[in-house]
Amino acid sequence: MSVARTMSTQHKLETIRLTGTIVTPFFELFTLTVTPFQQNMRVLLPIGLGGERLPATVIDPGGDLSRILSLLESLGTTCQQIWLTHAHLDHCGAVAGLIRHSGARLFGHAAEVQLRASVSLSASFFGLPEAEFENCPEPDVILQGGEVLMAGTTSWQVRFTPGHSVGHVCYYHQETETLLAGDTVFSNSIGRTDLPGGSHEVLLASIQREILSLPDAVQILPGHGPDTTVGRERRENPFLTSS
Ligand SMILES: [Zn+2]
Ligand SMILES: [Zn+2]
Repeated sequence: MSVARTMSTQHKLETIRLTGTIVTPFFELFTLTVTPFQQNMRVLLPIGLGGERLPATVIDPGGDLSRILSLLESLGTTCQQIWLTHAHLDHCGAVAGLIRHSGARLFGHAAEVQLRASVSLSASFFGLPEAEFENCPEPDVILQGGEVLMAGTTSWQVRFTPGHSVGHVCYYHQETETLLAGDTVFSNSIGRTDLPGGSHEVLLASIQREILSLPDAVQILPGHGPDTTVGRERRENPFLTSS
């Protein structure tokens, strides 16, 4: 595709250090930790019926655009879709740039309009360069929760999980019991609720309804920190065992 060729001439190739790779019969999932907030951006590469890699879905491209582009190029793929768990700057700061390079379609929740429009302002608040955290465009596909999204041959449930932000969603692949959890549940912790639109009670209710209702074996891939499982967090997470 001409878009991909243009992309390769517009940025410098960088050495990419991945923090984890998951390989299933349905997809490969690569993790790149981006921004000073150490956000786990994911590249989902579905596997076609002939065993070939299909175009990528990128989840939460929060920043470090040149590293994201280098990763996609090293994987020999292009970004076809961008799925947001939510629109805090560390999850969507590189969305606008990635769309310019790839023409990807953006998916995000209806309730995050204000967050998407204030990414640069948030960056200046945190003392970060506004130019590297662009405001996030309005999604091509507005989510409410309850949809099923396709990434190549794989289908993912959109689970509405507000509390950390007003329009937070998780993405769940049932066949492999994989949950892209954003900033809901972390290993031994949960998302902060002191930012605008946050609510501790609403977050706990979301986690109970949409995450702890899943089987123990489900892999939780959070927006920050190491991966975990539903069973482990159900038993050991101090924020969930006491509620
Ligand atoms: Zn967040
Ligand atoms: Zn985050």
